[in-house]
Amino acid sequence: MTEVTQVRARPTVFLEDMGCQMNRLDSELVLGKLKREGFERVDQPADADVVLYYTCSVREHAEDKVYGRLGTLRRLKEERPEMVIGVMGCMAQNHKDLIFKRAPHVDLVVGTSRFEDVAELLDEVKHGERVMALDRKDLAFDRDISVRPRRDQAFITAMRGCNKFCTFCIVPFTQGRERSRSVTELVKEAKQLRDDGVVEITLLGQRIDTYGLDRQDGTTLAVLLERLHEDVSGLERISYLTSHPNHMSDELARAVADHPRVSRYLHLPVQSGSDRVLQEMNRGYTVDDYRRAVDVMRNRIPDLSLATDWIVGFPGETEAEFDQSVDLLRELDFQGSFVFKYSPRAGTRAFDRGDPVSRDEKARRNQIILEEQKKSSLRKNRARIGSEVDVLVEGISKRNSAKWTGRTDRNLIVCFPAGKDLTGRLVRVRLTDCTALTLFGELV
Ligand code: SF4
Repeated sequence: MTEVTQVRARPTVFLEDMGCQMNRLDSELVLGKLKREGFERVDQPADADVVLYYTCSVREHAEDKVYGRLGTLRRLKEERPEMVIGVMGCMAQNHKDLIFKRAPHVDLVVGTSRFEDVAELLDEVKHGERVMALDRKDLAFDRDISVRPRRDQAFITAMRGCNKFCTFCIVPFTQGRERSRSVTELVKEAKQLRDDGVVEITLLGQRIDTYGLDRQDGTTLAVLLERLHEDVSGLERISYLTSHPNHMSDELARAVADHPRVSRYLHLPVQSGSDRVLQEMNRGYTVDDYRRAVDVMRNRIPDLSLATDWIVGFPGETEAEFDQSVDLLRELDFQGSFVFKYSPRAGTRAFDRGDPVSRDEKARRNQIILEEQKKSSLRKNRARIGSEVDVLVEGISKRNSAKWTGRTDRNLIVCFPAGKDLTGRLVRVRLTDCTALTLFGELV
């Protein structure tokens, strides 16, 4: 009897990304590069010649997940020693050769600045070498814009790195100092994406509001938003993530207010309502400074949609200090909150302070913030019922296949029935009902 084996004409790659939008975009860039080298993407590691994990180091849980994944690949690697296993991104930059020690069957460790060399690094592995590439290079990347999960939306990396060194955060160590791409380069990339069907771009940076400052030539986020708005017609929406309270300026507020296709959604992490905790976190502002930053933006942008991040259970956070966070949440009327239970990260300054707040207590505080936020979101959404909004349609609703879903320029999710595919179109919807997270309506 002849054994039939499937022979693939092209090499195959499995890639799983974890963590933030920037990781998702970087993994798209990696896939684009490998596609040009002839690779075909597959959905299972068992079908792949190359297995890559694009990793996150912000939380311990994310790193444990990667080691778990690597553990399950050990058997596969024994059966197929020619299979290449690689770890890329923040955890690679952070753990370095510890990854080889904990998972000796890994062949490739690639840090946050070398992902564009993935094809060349894979060649080195094929020559029998175990490769670790962690050094920093500049931002240039020859992007294959056709590789992206959605046809109508795309992320663009405007800058990388962070100079802030919050005491809980590993990012400045994994991503290095702030480096901004030029306005010209970003406008060119936005035009290419627009020509390929993209109607919404999101500019990414760890502190996007410091975009351009490292170039010392007058470039700012406000300048970039204006140029994109003026020069790239056809984009329905221009969004930006993530902001830091120290850099909210009237110039930025005006750039948003004066350009209708720039999103009115501001993700402005506050992290705590206690001045003492903020100082311990080295956030660089007080609660009053944060209030002023919000005022600067709200003064020019009516109904600004403001979302924030909270860390609960930071070492030493008392019950009274946590209550100050809850009070601030109520006071500032956020549209949304992302809550994170503190997780100590080796290599950060806060790591030495241990993790004294118990898991149960963190879970309790987490739940309180979520419940308070839910009340606030619901109240704000109810006030919108009866009004009309422009919705950029994203596709069929995951929860109800009879409905379509999209977002407003304030990043509010809207669901509505429609008889045809309106993906990528801007439609007007009258709001009729809501939950805390979703608005419902009908086409006008
Ligand atoms: S601003 Fe702070 S939390 Fe944000 S990336 Fe920089 S160091 Fe991390």
